[in-house]
Amino acid sequence: MAVRSTTAVPTLEDPQRRAPSASGVAVRTCIGCRLRAPATELLRVVLASDSGRDPAIPGTVQPDPRRRAPGRGAWIHPEPDCVAAAERRRAFGRAFRGGTSPDPTPVRDYVAALAARAVPRSAPAGRVVGETRESETKPMSTR
Ligand SMILES: [Zn+2]
Repeated sequence: MAVRSTTAVPTLEDPQRRAPSASGVAVRTCIGCRLRAPATELLRVVLASDSGRDPAIPGTVQPDPRRRAPGRGAWIHPEPDCVAAAERRRAFGRAFRGGTSPDPTPVRDYVAALAARAVPRSAPAGRVVGETRESETKPMSTR
């Protein structure tokens, strides 16, 4: 009783690229460089105004790393360059629909601190530091 396994495996490989598919990963636009990126790579910032919704008072832009703060949020790369770009183009004021530009100092400080802490934990290995180069003074064979 020879059972021949003739189960033809159907080729269900669709031509679509098998990207890790952005399932569940929201894509946001950085207000600094205007590039789109996964929300996980961006820092959420919110507008915090001390006086409720008084448009006369600009308020400040606060980092919201936990993304829990209520209200309108904006997204930005946690990089000084993007914060500077957002400031230059007044993207904060636009993002929060404020006539006045809010003060992004807290975000700038936060990003700066983040950048200062971003030290490569694992040094790029591969190069032996204690390399002895005694062959440096190798006499050339001058014939
Ligand atoms: Zn950016």
